[in-house]
Amino acid sequence: MGKIILTGDRPTGKLHIGHYVGSLRERVALQNQGGFDKIFVMLADVQALTDNAENPQKIRDNIIEVALDYLAAGIDPAKTNIFIQSMIPELTELTVYYMNLVTVSRVQRNPTVKTEIKMRNFEKNIPVGFFVYPISQAADITAFRATHVPVGEDQEPMIEQCREIVRRFNMIYGETLVEPEIILPKNHACLRLPGLDGKAKMSKSLGNCIFLSDEPEDIRKKIMSMYTDQNHLRVEDPGETENNPVFIYLDAFCKDEYFKEFLPEYNNLEELKAHYRRGGLGDVKVKKFLNNVMQTVLQPIRERRKEWEQRKPEVYDILKHGCEVARAEAQKTLHDVRKAMKINYFE
Ligand code: ATP
Ligand code: MG
Repeated sequence: MGKIILTGDRPTGKLHIGHYVGSLRERVALQNQGGFDKIFVMLADVQALTDNAENPQKIRDNIIEVALDYLAAGIDPAKTNIFIQSMIPELTELTVYYMNLVTVSRVQRNPTVKTEIKMRNFEKNIPVGFFVYPISQAADITAFRATHVPVGEDQEPMIEQCREIVRRFNMIYGETLVEPEIILPKNHACLRLPGLDGKAKMSKSLGNCIFLSDEPEDIRKKIMSMYTDQNHLRVEDPGETENNPVFIYLDAFCKDEYFKEFLPEYNNLEELKAHYRRGGLGDVKVKKFLNNVMQTVLQPIRERRKEWEQRKPEVYDILKHGCEVARAEAQKTLHDVRKAMKINYFE
């Protein structure tokens, strides 16, 4: 059995730096290390429609935006297969079979589902499709026999739920499906990057993002207006670096070499943090440094994105080809699934 990656994003908006550190950067690294036999990256439009049913144009528009973000961030279509979820009807079929293996109370206990229901004010009116999206996600992962799923920390309960479905399926119908493993970012700050507003998660739905496609001036403005330690009022005051989004972003993006270039009075992030904790270091100076770091990281991504924006027909060709490859793969799994479930009547 080979090593296979499946991961993806909901096309609900352009990708932000939380996606980048939480999943995208890792995917590009894994792709370029070459240790995997197949890599699939999915634009999860079916999942996006579960809470955007009345907004089809938004999902359609963001298919191309997210695809551009992928290519800009270094996803290479020669090594990674990018495809669109709705183009693979086998995924829907698999979801229906899995629904019989999961109880309503089990989905209700899924902590990510709980948080997302609250975030969307769905408490009294959850669309059924939204409620079962963890099951549909298990279908996505298993249809490609994925062994590894590189995602952010919020996806951990989804992968656990998927593993349970696999075990139950294999127990009832015989060894058919593969249990996937999660790959989380190694850097703690990247597990769940907070928003500019200090909220627990940078999220398209919360409007607290720096996007991969933001122009330099927007990035600067966003960083200069970021939340820091609310008790760090005067420069002399000692400040906190732990729950301070400015320092968390530095944890996620800073390299020692940036100090030589932009802030040579410090050798590394530890020295900068120590000064902030002691007092005597102002927020503006730290934010200016963070701005330089972010500009350095985002400039090549933005430039590559602009190049791909001129070649949209080619991007659609990449997606179309990706869908064909993905569909063939999912059809093979569905063949095995139907056989295992004894619903392959005419074979
Ligand atoms: P939505 O608000 O529509 O749910 P989102 O911003 O949460 O959008 P998703 O498409 O749900 O983005 O998530 C895609 C991937 O990015 C997942 O692997 C998720 O774990 C990761 N991710 C999203 N936001 C962050 C973040 N702030 N920090 C780290 N990883 C993140
Ligand atoms: Mg999400």
